[in-house]
Amino acid sequence: MAPEIASLVPYKPGKPIEELERELGISGAIKLASNENPLGPSPKAVEAMAQALGGLHRYPDGAGYVLRAALAQRYGLPQEQIVLGNGSNEIIEFLCRAFIRPGDQALAAAPSFLMYSKLVQVAGGRLKEVPLKDFRLDLAALQEAIEPRTRLVFLNNPDNPAGTAFSGQELQAFLDQTPPGVLVVLDEAYIDFAGDPAVAQGPEFLGHATPLVVMRTFSKSYGLAGLRIGFALAPLEVAGLLHRVRQPFNTSILAQVAGAAALADEEFLQKSRELVWQGLQDFYACFERLGLSYVPSQANFVLVRIGPRAGEVAEELLRRGIIVRKMGSYQLPEHLRISVGLPQENQRFIRQLTAILEG
Ligand SMILES: *Cc1c(COP(=O)(O)O)cnc(C)c1O
Repeated sequence: MAPEIASLVPYKPGKPIEELERELGISGAIKLASNENPLGPSPKAVEAMAQALGGLHRYPDGAGYVLRAALAQRYGLPQEQIVLGNGSNEIIEFLCRAFIRPGDQALAAAPSFLMYSKLVQVAGGRLKEVPLKDFRLDLAALQEAIEPRTRLVFLNNPDNPAGTAFSGQELQAFLDQTPPGVLVVLDEAYIDFAGDPAVAQGPEFLGHATPLVVMRTFSKSYGLAGLRIGFALAPLEVAGLLHRVRQPFNTSILAQVAGAAALADEEFLQKSRELVWQGLQDFYACFERLGLSYVPSQANFVLVRIGPRAGEVAEELLRRGIIVRKMGSYQLPEHLRISVGLPQENQRFIRQLTAILEG
């Protein structure tokens, strides 16, 4: 067996609610662990899918015309520059397949989204990691880490798991200094939650001489994580390569119609953002009361430092029916990552965390 495959560590996703409830013999558990949208899916997307059900005996439109047309209009780009993925994770896979040859290198921050290293490794490449600095992407150090065999640089903005974000100016400076032959990949899974207007908006930089791929997803802000639909905005030549390596029917009929409908659901998007912003404020107030340090977030989750007992506290929260994300696999064993839930879920977490730490 190929050693680079045998040495892969399987991804450990957050525990599904049903599994936890079975294990503990409880009901009414809540999940604040996977950065999902607690409001559910965009209602417009649900309606569009209901109407499309009768057509499921057909193969999907391999070109994804309806969704790509909607995205083209939204971003003012020709459709040829838009690539759909079965989740934006699949776009990462296309990028690795198209640009990483055995022995090539990619760069990302550490800790960072675990799929980058996995998919680079599957393609026979190696991911070089550059530590976060004060929980922010260290763009200068990333720049310095570029080597002749570096093909891809993954920039996650806002960043998972830190929740921090860099500005448009910082992105501009980074692109200006990036040598030719390197493709910059901007993963904007959480961009819709960024409340700070200075946060870089990738689509504004697509015209830069340095090739840039912007990845976005319907999984988070549109509440469609279970459907698997995301997309890339890319220079024409890069998009052409990504289209060559994808399967013709990589996104389903339901995903395509739901994506197009969700994109028009401004009301849902705004509601989602406001829910997140209020939830973060409530979390911050709780952490300050408890004397815990945390990383102010531009995303729909927050990283909080519990201390050496973080693992125990997470287990105790689990027993009380609250699933949060332990950060051991992200090299932050003293931290927990908490996704914003519904107001009553956030309050339940706040009450239980307070009881555990003060009890
Ligand atoms: C959630 C998330 C995504 C979204 O992945 P999908 O495949 O679109 O669901 C992408 N990148 C990061 C860093 C994420 O946390």
